[in-house]
Amino acid sequence: MLDYLIVGSGLAGISFAETALQHQKNILIIDNQSQNASLIAGGLYNPVILKRFSEVWQAEQQLAVLDSFYQKLESKLQIKVDYKIPILRKFFSIEEQNNWFAASDNKMLAPFLSLDLVTTKYHGINSPFNYGQVLQTGYVDTKLLLNAYKKYLLDHNLLLEETFDYHSIQFFDDGVQYKNTKAKQIIFAEGFGLHANPFFNYLPLDGTKGELFIIKAPNLNLEVIINTSVFILPLGNDLFKVGATYNWQDKTSDPSEEGRTELLARIYEILDCEFEIIAHFAGVRPTVRDRKPLVGTHPQFSRLHILNGLGTRGVMLGPSMAIALFELIEHQKPLDKVIDIKRYENKI
Ligand SMILES: Cc1cc2nc3c(=O)[nH]c(=O)nc-3n(C[C@H](O)[C@H](O)[C@H](O)COP(=O)(O)OP(=O)(O)OC[C@H]3O[C@@H](n4cnc5c(N)ncnc54)[C@H](O)[C@@H]3O)c2cc1C
Repeated sequence: MLDYLIVGSGLAGISFAETALQHQKNILIIDNQSQNASLIAGGLYNPVILKRFSEVWQAEQQLAVLDSFYQKLESKLQIKVDYKIPILRKFFSIEEQNNWFAASDNKMLAPFLSLDLVTTKYHGINSPFNYGQVLQTGYVDTKLLLNAYKKYLLDHNLLLEETFDYHSIQFFDDGVQYKNTKAKQIIFAEGFGLHANPFFNYLPLDGTKGELFIIKAPNLNLEVIINTSVFILPLGNDLFKVGATYNWQDKTSDPSEEGRTELLARIYEILDCEFEIIAHFAGVRPTVRDRKPLVGTHPQFSRLHILNGLGTRGVMLGPSMAIALFELIEHQKPLDKVIDIKRYENKI
């Protein structure tokens, strides 16, 4: 009998799979490639909300877990995915500069906001008010990670490429049966695909579509990530990832004309050098109104669990939320109330 049957191989699903494997559990993942947020994500991790200069919830703890989690995956898969590079917040006014320094007085934010103004002039970006540097930032190459992890799963017969059929679960005293597979527990990590899940679709998971480009800009000389109304992430060979948009109406994963127009307008606000669009991607972020993940055990079916709602921060949240869920199931360690799906029990 399997320990865990996991539905979804995005950042949530592979974070749980890897946590379970590291504890010598046996697993099987089912994925049908119906969602692609993790595959196309910017991959940035950043402990500061740069719009408001406030701290990301439990940033320090998440960063500590993130470091060792992606390091272990790098050595297991023999690839490099975690790039620790600075994120520079471009200031639009003196007032914004002042707000930055005021925020750095906050004990929670101090470890993440550099007090040295970055005055470097990057060719192609006009920055009369300079930049503030966020510390302990970087990005994970999620596409490379997911593809390498998929290969690992396939090589070890740990992945079934099909659509999960929710009506084929049978419940027994010692576990569940799904078609020919018996498992002690099922972890649902379908991202926005959660809406098709009759056990958990009472939860208020919204979806926020995001679009981004890969552009080629030979005259843009950047070795850091710039954050303004969009982020610009250098990939090497004159290529840059630029994104992202936020659309709360459209729930499809298709690149749209509307997204393209919006992104182009934002890029023209920032770049004054030539560029060419090489690729255009879109995906739906699994967002929740209270901006906290959806983690926990089904109120009636004790062998069904959920790991979802990673929103705009799957790279940072995935590993620590997976560990929290694993600890709940294996050692009955209670979840933090803010992430526990118990907060929505009145919605059933
Ligand atoms: C444009 C964009 C930019 C982003 N940038 C960043 C960023 O810079 N940093 C960051 O941390 N986050 C970023 N995000 C957010 C991040 O992508 C998400 O938080 C994360 O990918 C969510 O992971 P997930 O595994 O929950 O969902 P998903 O990646 O959607 O994975 C769900 C998986 O479940 C599978 N699935 C669903 N239903 C079924 C079913 N019935 N049967 C079988 N399989 C099923 C899907 O095929 C999919 O593989 C971005 C997102 C977008 C769209």
